[in-house]
Amino acid sequence: MNYNYHTHTYRCHHADGTEREYIEKAIEGGIKYMGFSDHIPFRFPNGFESEHRIYTCDVKDYFDILKALREEYKDKIEISIGFESEFYPKYYKEMIQNATEAGAEYLILGQHYLGNELPDRITSSSMHEKYEELKEYADTVIMAMESGYFTYVAHPDILNFAGDDKLYDSEMRRICAKSRELDIPLEINFIGIRTNRRYPYEKFWKIAGEEKSPVTFGFDAHDADAACDKKSVSKAMELVEKHKLNYIGKPKLRLLKNPSDS
Ligand SMILES: [Zn+2]
Ligand SMILES: [Zn+2]
Repeated sequence: MNYNYHTHTYRCHHADGTEREYIEKAIEGGIKYMGFSDHIPFRFPNGFESEHRIYTCDVKDYFDILKALREEYKDKIEISIGFESEFYPKYYKEMIQNATEAGAEYLILGQHYLGNELPDRITSSSMHEKYEELKEYADTVIMAMESGYFTYVAHPDILNFAGDDKLYDSEMRRICAKSRELDIPLEINFIGIRTNRRYPYEKFWKIAGEEKSPVTFGFDAHDADAACDKKSVSKAMELVEKHKLNYIGKPKLRLLKNPSDS
């Protein structure tokens, strides 16, 4: 594995280390293609900015520093700069427009909240029993894929559904089928492996295997050590083999376009 497009920085307030440390660790581990995808900055209309994202006042610094480092290390590694973003039906155009204007080159989808996040801030990873919530998650991820802005879907299996397995199967199958139809990869997320989270969630990957969805890997680095997490590769490969996943390796970047240009 010589690529990783899922890297955070300290600007999201839950990651540590300098960008330089991440880059040097990645190079040391043999990574040739590295993407920074910190949590997208966004100020909601009521003025709220999440502490889990880059604050809008820090976004210029994010690009300035990464562009300078990209230039400095260009002979050793190819660096892309983007964001991990939710898809909020109400706000995505504004979010993506701001992102492109700030300089974002690509986006990965990380649907951490249901709906438009506000007012309830219901996380996808908390336990859900209602079918409506499961369906809302699937509908939103599918809308995001159809929008054409996202390179891949990070941790598509983040939704924690405690209800009927048959309902889980049919809703997740819609996501997996759409991923195959549009050729948008689903990510096996390594922070889940490293920290024993509920994802990678076997039941999801079984469906992804049956639907032949394209599958890629992402380190989801929140510290320099994880900027090259080769330790988790074998666990991820076990999933690939067990469920006969269509592992494509390095994803093809979908270069981001400003929504107001189309
Ligand atoms: Zn995420
Ligand atoms: Zn992430």
